[in-house]
Amino acid sequence: MDQAMSHHITCLSCATVNRVPAERLSAHPKCGTCGAKLVEAKVHDIDTATLRKAETKDTLPLLVDFWAPWCGPCRAMAPEFSKAAQALSPHARFAKINTQVHGDASQRYGIRGIPLLILFRNGQEVARLTGARPAAEIEAFVRSHTKARA
Ligand SMILES: [Zn+2]
Repeated sequence: MDQAMSHHITCLSCATVNRVPAERLSAHPKCGTCGAKLVEAKVHDIDTATLRKAETKDTLPLLVDFWAPWCGPCRAMAPEFSKAAQALSPHARFAKINTQVHGDASQRYGIRGIPLLILFRNGQEVARLTGARPAAEIEAFVRSHTKARA
């Protein structure tokens, strides 16, 4: 079913919204504006403005890790988050927001504690997962909330 549709994917480098045919997701699609890879098996460091655009426009699931350098559990979870990003690519994208640098994120997303993962898809927040989690749990969380339309 996915084969017939295309995805709207916000470039996490320049925030341009690109249209990518679903069958091209695995073919390393690039941003038409800046040439950055749109779908990569790694975690992108983004700011709140980019997330606002992506959370509104993107049809591909986007999981965001809200973290800070002073947060021990956040640092401990980072490699697990990267592992999950690799496991789920190209069916979901992973990003992180440093809440110490981007202080506006905490208020906008009502963040009371970190690490906090928020899953976005089709213009809305789908689900949240709090606390440090192993890769398998992060992966299962994304799958459980996206498989209906995957
Ligand atoms: Zn771009």
